[in-house]
Amino acid sequence: MKKVYFKTFGCRTNQFDTQVMMSKLKDFELTMNEEEADVIMVNSCTVTNGADSSVRAYIGGSGRKNPHAKVILAGCGSHSKGESLFEEKKVFGVIGHSEKEKINDILKYEQPFYQIGDLKHIDSTIIEEFVGKSRAFIKIQEGCDFRCSYCIIPSVRGDARSHKEADILTQIEKLASNGFGEFILTGTNVGSYGQDQNSSMAKLLKRMSMIRGVRRIRIGSLEPIQIDDEFKELLTEPWMAKHLHIALQHTSDKMLKLMNRRNEFQTDLELLEEIASKGYAIGTDYIVGHPGEDEKAWCEAIERVAHLPLTHVHAFSYSKRDNTPSATMKPEVKGNLAKARHKALTELVKEKNLAFRKAHHQNLEVLIEQGQNEIYHGYDQYFNKIEISSNEDLTSNWITIENATVKGDKNVANYE
Ligand code: SF4
Repeated sequence: MKKVYFKTFGCRTNQFDTQVMMSKLKDFELTMNEEEADVIMVNSCTVTNGADSSVRAYIGGSGRKNPHAKVILAGCGSHSKGESLFEEKKVFGVIGHSEKEKINDILKYEQPFYQIGDLKHIDSTIIEEFVGKSRAFIKIQEGCDFRCSYCIIPSVRGDARSHKEADILTQIEKLASNGFGEFILTGTNVGSYGQDQNSSMAKLLKRMSMIRGVRRIRIGSLEPIQIDDEFKELLTEPWMAKHLHIALQHTSDKMLKLMNRRNEFQTDLELLEEIASKGYAIGTDYIVGHPGEDEKAWCEAIERVAHLPLTHVHAFSYSKRDNTPSATMKPEVKGNLAKARHKALTELVKEKNLAFRKAHHQNLEVLIEQGQNEIYHGYDQYFNKIEISSNEDLTSNWITIENATVKGDKNVANYE
């Protein structure tokens, strides 16, 4: 049997897609050893110019341990760079996102092929990924209808479309009956779930919560405009994790406009205050150093961050992606300046996180993920990390910590 090795670049969605392909191999053997592979499937990422270069370098041979294997390109890079790599004969074949589930047949092709498919397809396989024995990530949708200036995703993953609700619920039922208690919903633009199916995130959440065994639900990320009244009504439900990740991307209205975002600072502030008033921790994504972020815009932006009830941040320094509107915008922000802004932002939110933990260190509901030498790690309902000492085996257990000690970057506690 021929052996196939998967090389995955990029985000969690790509890792899910690799799992879809792996699950479809029937006449081939999966190998984790690149050197013995007959075929290498490169599940590529194209999110920035840097990501393209890494994929190209791998395909070109540098960094690849097995130069004799057939290389097939899959993933987002197929849709942006696939044609040129194929024409240059750098890869034996190219497949688009919609072709993933046919991989077992495609791998049998003896002639070079370019099978890009379309960007409307949604896989019938719903992939789960497990952390320990009690937390599962479930991918519920694909694609995005937004057109943020810096982002290439809609043109390589297509518009938003949802997995069938019945399939998602069946999957969750199965996992819950096998002991999984926490579910994390993911996708490219998770909050757009349901708009093509006469449903909504709120409806899905309500249905999920009725499944026996579902104890806590987290949502990967939401856009501010996706949080409607129907969703807000669920904020007091006991099964909602008390942490929401709401992607703001910036806090200067000038920058939000340049980025072609659909949110504005004033409404973001009101929304976040409303959610925080219900006891929620709130995380966000934030891009610093996007073209046009002059000193005035940045000073206003960081000052505004100080007013937001944020507890977590994923800060990114802008990185150019050709064929996006942002790529030609001027003036660009110098790398060292973007780095300094990144640092200022993360430090500010770190302080906010510490203040939040000082106010929320009691009655923490912790799902333990892993442990070693009597030290265990997990996250509480606010998505804050906690380190617990115990001589019991706590792996994958739910425990309540009545009073944790708040340290600089995490909480700690003893559990007997
Ligand atoms: S919301 Fe914006 S940043 Fe996110 S995937 Fe869609 S276009 Fe890209």
